[in-house]
Amino acid sequence: MLALNGLKNVSKFLHCTPFKRFERDLYETIDVEIMLTVFGSTALDTIRTPNKVLKDVLGGAATFAGISSSFFVNTGLIAVVGKDFPKKYHNILSSHVNLDGLSVKNGKTFRYDGKYDKTLSTRTTLRTELNVLENFQPTVPEQYKKSQFVYLANNDPDQNIELIKEFDHVKFSMCDTIEFWISTKRKSVVNMFKKVDAVVINDEEAKLLTKEMNLIKCAKKIMSWGTKYVIIKKGQHGSLLFFDDIIFPLAGLPIENVVDPTGAGDSFAGAMMGYLTSKKKTDITTIKKSTVYGNVLGSFAVQGYGLEGLLRIKKSDIKKRMTLYEKMTCL
Ligand code: AMP
Repeated sequence: MLALNGLKNVSKFLHCTPFKRFERDLYETIDVEIMLTVFGSTALDTIRTPNKVLKDVLGGAATFAGISSSFFVNTGLIAVVGKDFPKKYHNILSSHVNLDGLSVKNGKTFRYDGKYDKTLSTRTTLRTELNVLENFQPTVPEQYKKSQFVYLANNDPDQNIELIKEFDHVKFSMCDTIEFWISTKRKSVVNMFKKVDAVVINDEEAKLLTKEMNLIKCAKKIMSWGTKYVIIKKGQHGSLLFFDDIIFPLAGLPIENVVDPTGAGDSFAGAMMGYLTSKKKTDITTIKKSTVYGNVLGSFAVQGYGLEGLLRIKKSDIKKRMTLYEKMTCL
């Protein structure tokens, strides 16, 4: 992380964005190693909460996941946006993740519109507009191909299946999905699950996909399709990790000032992948610990509207909250 902070300062000095390959001669040989690649949606979200409505704000599963993982490792983003994507959002992304894998296409950026009920625990999707995401054929920058860790965030499962083939040295891959893809491309979702080491999915979506009502049965069914690990996110109630006959439950970190849960699940997954990548390990103990980081990053995400909750924290805040969480959960 020291090196990473150092780089941020260097880039500030040069008035360019961190983690991008520097264009100046002096820095031509510096090529920041991308150890984690995140692929998925980058969006303009409309989020309707009981207290506030946000219109066309920066969102998307890969955005939340990439920013969350950037607290742990250099992250390369593969995504597509339209010509309408605001420069200010591009700047936010570029100050956290490498954008060599970001395509800007003619057309409109992917849009999502969702509304929360007054408990902030149920979200209804009002509109999903794929726009430039539809039929997107991503190219993987050469320096991303060495990534040993790949996260396929919410996205068209067929695109995710194609993308994972581009990586030769994958040590650990994980994917997520969402109601939209389960309803429109269920077969492809199941197929995608066969191609990755781990599936992270929220409880309602796990039930919808497997047609099982019990979360253990859901996880068993998903594992029977071929993935080794299943992580079921339960919103404010934490998570369940399944591997072989191991079940590792985690309580959610109790938060009083929840304002917008959007992206909490993606932040959870980004933290898991970021932590695993930083450790370069995939044993069950490290995976268990990664889900603790997942809960912690998710807890920050819900405290701000859109990305605010993640953008205002520092590494030291994560450390403090980890300590607090450990204190809360030990007997
Ligand atoms: P979460 O709250 O973790 O479920 O993630 C919400 C994010 O997922 C929002 O920022 C949306 O832009 C994005 N999203 C919603 N629907 C889809 C979809 N069908 N495909 C990809 N990303 C989506």
